[in-house]
Amino acid sequence: MAKEDLFVFSNMGTDNLNYINRRINIDLSMIKGKGRNSIRTITLRDICMQNEPITPELKAFLISIGSVSIDSSFIPRARGSTAGPGAGTGSVFFRAGEKRVRLSINKDSRLSILKVEGEGNVAIFHEGREIARGKLEPALAHCPEQAFITLCEKCIFDCKYCPVPKLQGHVKSEEEVLSIVDEVLKSGNLKAISLTSGVETSVEGEVERVLKLLPALKKYNVPIGVSVYPTAGCSRKFYEAGVSEVKYNVETMDCEIFKKVCGDLSLDYILDRLKEAVDAFGKNRVFSNLIIGLGESDSSVTEGIETLVKMRVIPILRPVNPHPLRVGDCFTERPSPERILKLAKIEAEMLRRYGLNPGLAKTMCLKCTGCDLVPFVDF
Ligand code: SF4
Repeated sequence: MAKEDLFVFSNMGTDNLNYINRRINIDLSMIKGKGRNSIRTITLRDICMQNEPITPELKAFLISIGSVSIDSSFIPRARGSTAGPGAGTGSVFFRAGEKRVRLSINKDSRLSILKVEGEGNVAIFHEGREIARGKLEPALAHCPEQAFITLCEKCIFDCKYCPVPKLQGHVKSEEEVLSIVDEVLKSGNLKAISLTSGVETSVEGEVERVLKLLPALKKYNVPIGVSVYPTAGCSRKFYEAGVSEVKYNVETMDCEIFKKVCGDLSLDYILDRLKEAVDAFGKNRVFSNLIIGLGESDSSVTEGIETLVKMRVIPILRPVNPHPLRVGDCFTERPSPERILKLAKIEAEMLRRYGLNPGLAKTMCLKCTGCDLVPFVDF
C-alpha cells in the first residue's frame, strides 16, 4: 500500500477515520508497520489525488489555505470582485467534475496552479505535489454562471473584517448593471442574477435601489437572488417583485464578537428580518453568512447554526478572509481543514434534521459554492 493512496488528516477523530477508510476502501490494518493511531499523523503532504474529484477533505484543505499562485496568462477574463470581504482581490475558480473552489491569487501561496497535459488542463500543486486536476472557469461577473453584481461599493457601516468601507468604491447605474448582465448573457453562462450592495447613505435607500432595478431584470428570465442589509417588510416586497431567494448575513452568532466587529448593526434586528424572509420565501430560500474565524468557539457556531436552522434559514459557514486593508482591526484566523470539515458535518446533520437542502439553491453563494464546504453539494 503506497502512502500516496491515503488521504488522512492528522488530529482527526475516529468518525473521520472510519469515513475515509470506507471511502478509499482499504483495510487500515493492511498498512504495514502502522497502527491506527499513527495513521492520524499522516499529513496533507501525503495527498495524491490525481484524476479524482474534489473530496470534502481536499476542498476543506484548499479553502483553509484560500489562495493560490498562478501565471497571469492562465487566468480567464474576469471583471474582479467588488463584493464583501473578498473585495479588491483577484481570484480564480477551479473546477473538477461537479465541484468548484475559489482561490484568491497570491504569489506566495503554498498552492500553485500549473498547466498539465492530459485530463483536465490545469492542476493544483501543494508544495510541488499534484493534488487535484481540473479546469479554470471563467467568472465574468464575480463568479461562474451568474451575474453577481455589487450595486453600491461603498458602506456607511464599519464591520471590522470588511474592506468595503475602506475602498469606498463606485455606485453602479441601472445601465451599468444591465450591461454586465448582457455581457454574461452573451457568454452563454447566465443561470442567475445575484445582487448585493454596501450602504451608500441608508439601508432603506439600498432596498429601494434593488426594488427599482428588479423590473428591468425580469426579461432575462433567470432566478434572482438579493443580499442586502434588510429593512422591516422588505422581504415581502422583494418576493412580490420576483426575487427567488434572499441572503441576510448575521456574520457571527457570538453576541460579544458581534458587538466588537459589527458594532453599528444589531444581531436581533437581522434575526427578525430573517424570520420575515422565511415567512415570505419559505424554507430553502433564505440564507445567512456565518463567518468562521473571528475568535468564536465551535460551540457558539453550533448554537448559531441551530438557531438559524430552526428558523428554516440555511447558514453559510464562511471562512474569514483576512484583508490587507483590515490588518489589526479585529481578530481573524482562517479555520483549519479539520475545523471546516467538523463544522460542515455538524451543519449537515442539523439541516437534515430540519429538512433543509442547500443543493436546491438557485442563486448567490450556495449556487456558486466556491468559497465554502457546502453540505449535500460537496459531500
Ligand atoms: S461563494 Fe459567494 S462570495 Fe464566494 S465566489 Fe461564490 S458567490 Fe462569491
